[in-house]
Amino acid sequence: MRNRIILHYGELTLKGCNRHSFVKKLRTNVRNKIKSLDLTWDVVSIHDRMFIEIPIDFTGDIDAIAEKLAEIPGIAWLSKVYWFSVKQYDIFGYKPELDKLDQLIEKLANETYQKGKSFAVRVKRSDKRFVKTSKELEMQLATIILKNTEWKNVNLNHADQYFYVDISSRGMAVHTNRIKAIGGLPVASTGKIMCLLSGGFDSPIAAYLMAKRGCTVDFVHFTASNIQASKLETYKVARIAQRISEFCGKVRLYLVPYTHFDLALMEKNLDYDLILFRRFMARVAQSLAEKNYAQCLVTGDNLGQVASQTMENIVSMTKSIEMPVLRPLLTYNKEEIVTLSRQLGLFDVCVEPYKDCCALISNTPKTKSLHEKLEHIEERFFDYEELIEDTLDEKQVIAFQFGKRIDFE
Ligand code: ATP
Ligand code: MG
Repeated sequence: MRNRIILHYGELTLKGCNRHSFVKKLRTNVRNKIKSLDLTWDVVSIHDRMFIEIPIDFTGDIDAIAEKLAEIPGIAWLSKVYWFSVKQYDIFGYKPELDKLDQLIEKLANETYQKGKSFAVRVKRSDKRFVKTSKELEMQLATIILKNTEWKNVNLNHADQYFYVDISSRGMAVHTNRIKAIGGLPVASTGKIMCLLSGGFDSPIAAYLMAKRGCTVDFVHFTASNIQASKLETYKVARIAQRISEFCGKVRLYLVPYTHFDLALMEKNLDYDLILFRRFMARVAQSLAEKNYAQCLVTGDNLGQVASQTMENIVSMTKSIEMPVLRPLLTYNKEEIVTLSRQLGLFDVCVEPYKDCCALISNTPKTKSLHEKLEHIEERFFDYEELIEDTLDEKQVIAFQFGKRIDFE
């Protein structure tokens, strides 16, 4: 009997002809994640699931590894299983020797015992060569648990603890818990985005949600000053990108100065400084995205959250560039965003104080704007080609893969 981790994909089964390439991408992502944990385990995909064989001599914390695997987009749930291979055990014999299964169920029942709680045994038999029916095996195993352990209550519909036995043509898998994973689609299966990352709560969640739908993610952040190379890694925004990379594999974070825009804006005393600044960010981000083959920009915009995110200002920002801007958080409530931030282990870093671009903006920013009027102002006061070029000339970049810093490619 060996230990295995079984990964179940969520929506991949629905994807028709693309299924093969989706599964391949997911397997690559799982392999890379495993490598990033300094393990050399192989990953095999069979039908609608993937198997990871755990070496017999492994003494590390399998639960901690399973938790990390649950962060890979494209996996709906996973379980740590005890595996009886067909080759080793006579599972499909006339009289299968189930002693080892009986002993294992008893051991698992003892380990998971909770006073006053109920249990159920669930058997799934996808290979009907197995001589007992699912119901018969369920009865047999439940009787062992009732006789030999302290469990007293069976509840077939809503048990507190389940014991699962899945019998397929390759063998028999036994497990006690399903770890819910994030689901969605494998990263690199749907497209590439450039996310405008601020130091707040919203934009990291926007990036996570896009990664969950299979996007490769890069970031751009606008900052006041150049950051010393030695301090780059500990910079708040870099640590946010680092955490996001645990979900989406490789991410690059570009840091670009907004000082050129700031200088151009100074002394002009323009009414629309806030939305002009957002249009500047959109243009620079679009240029960077094009150079990196990203198809869309993504922001953490949230309708009505602050002056920059009134419907009028969102429209004005969108119209300033040709590239589509996706806003996955547009309709979220703040508490929904903060709840996700906590669940994803981002809250502590996002809540740290951070001096952002607000210093640039007047205290009474305009909440309504019109693209045509802004375009007129921009034509008069700014040389955008030069502004974008000067800004991108000073970009810095840092890259992460699954939480570890990597060299920029
Ligand atoms: P967040 O929205 O990320 O929590 P915030 O609330 O401070 O941060 P907003 O003023 O709401 O930022 O900005 C809306 C969106 O604009 C952000 O979600 C982000 O996508 C983008 N943005 C804001 N500031 C920056 C910045 N300095 N660099 C890159 N993108 C930014
Ligand atoms: Mg915001």
